[in-house]
Amino acid sequence: MSKLEQLLKKISCASFPGVEDLVAVLSLEDLPEIKVLFDFADVVRQKVCGRGILLRGIVEFSNFCRNACAYCGLNKNNLALPRYRLSMSEILESVARVAASKVKTVVLQSGEDACVDILGLLEIIRSIKEQFDMSITLSLGEMNFKDYQLLKKAGADRYLLKIETSNQALYESLHPGMSFENRVACLHDLKEMGFQTGSGNIVGLKGQTLRMIAEDILFFKKEDLDMVGIGPFIPHGRTPLKDESQGSALLTLKTLALSRIVLKNVHLPATTALGSLEKDFREEALRAGANVLMPNFTPLRYKKLYEIYPGKRCIEEAGSVCVSCLTSLAERLDRTIDYSRGDTLKAG
Ligand code: SF4
Repeated sequence: MSKLEQLLKKISCASFPGVEDLVAVLSLEDLPEIKVLFDFADVVRQKVCGRGILLRGIVEFSNFCRNACAYCGLNKNNLALPRYRLSMSEILESVARVAASKVKTVVLQSGEDACVDILGLLEIIRSIKEQFDMSITLSLGEMNFKDYQLLKKAGADRYLLKIETSNQALYESLHPGMSFENRVACLHDLKEMGFQTGSGNIVGLKGQTLRMIAEDILFFKKEDLDMVGIGPFIPHGRTPLKDESQGSALLTLKTLALSRIVLKNVHLPATTALGSLEKDFREEALRAGANVLMPNFTPLRYKKLYEIYPGKRCIEEAGSVCVSCLTSLAERLDRTIDYSRGDTLKAG
């Protein structure tokens, strides 16, 4: 067994691996060694998740946001972006298209819309549950405990709240007016009230070190999350980070593979951001530990307005077309699309 294989085994067997070991893996530059890392993660993925690739249908129902995150094109200071909110019937029509494609999870996503209509949202969640056999993931940002509770009671199953970085100083430099403590407190609230909870990070942020990325992975481990989304930083022309360099696809893939080895029974998407670089890296992600793909079912006329970063893949195609394209991708990898709900992999 090579030194690297021994290190990966040590990391995989540790209940809480050492940060220096993770930094050593993230520092790998030699391509054959990186292949060893990806193959190791792929074996863990096969053991924990099997061959199936789960689908989550995304509906981006509002691009209004009260925040000014330094990396995000939806930030409130981007006055050139036309804003939209889908009506209740547009949301339900989109969800019907998700159901027609046999996808059993819908992800309802928006910016942190200051005017979010909680009562309307509750009605939408109840209608989805009445009309479709489908689990609901929400990704609406920070809310108060009571609103989270109402959403849970109405039938929402899961909640995604990305931390983006677990380094408090970096977090607060990128999120003016927001507090790291509150972000983590929201994650804890969501977990406590029984949501299957997801988070994630951005790789390649200005000021981010390999040690910070290793600490992100350990943060995900400590929080015992059900899902983790890992994507590269992609600069957006209407943000304060417009002149920064793009995050590296290779480092993002190494982070993903190492996350699979450390976190094991967690859902890891091949993120749309990884698919939106100079080439589509989702295939590599699926070979390096990922087990989820996220076709986009936002109505076509709004898709391009949900521009967190530029060059987003699949904004000209309908969600059903994305599903057939992802099915071909699964076949190329000798994997299958898993049309089940894909609930948490943690033991009840
Ligand atoms: S990352 Fe989320 S909260 Fe921040 S500006 Fe973008 S949409 Fe708003």
